[in-house]
Amino acid sequence: MKCKLCDNYYIVDLKLYNLFNPPELCETCSLEYIPHVYQEIIPVSGGLVTYYYLYDDVKLNMKQEEYLEKNFKILFKKMEKLTRNITLFIDSKSIKNFSEYFPLIINFKNINFYSLKRHNLIKYIDYF
Ligand SMILES: [Zn+2]
Repeated sequence: MKCKLCDNYYIVDLKLYNLFNPPELCETCSLEYIPHVYQEIIPVSGGLVTYYYLYDDVKLNMKQEEYLEKNFKILFKKMEKLTRNITLFIDSKSIKNFSEYFPLIINFKNINFYSLKRHNLIKYIDYF
């Protein structure tokens, strides 16, 4: 089979339990891309910025990001508990214009950011 992340071919040992649901990733990718919920808390004037992401220190192309976005369901469960805060998702496209969001969100006390992979938000601390 062809791995959906690295496009390498790999051998699948098909058994009755995985005959109709074979693994989509090679062994290397299935070990390397295990999602973890990372959390960074940045105190800002009058509030908190909380940043959640699933992958730290990885380089992902657009195809890989699209595939791994299904793991956002882990973060969606966290969002349900934090309904009174403003929540923004950051992806590889929106991070390019990230500073443009600040005039719109600066008045919120608690801001939650979510992303698939880690972006360095500390460099935007002066905007808060
Ligand atoms: Zn792979």
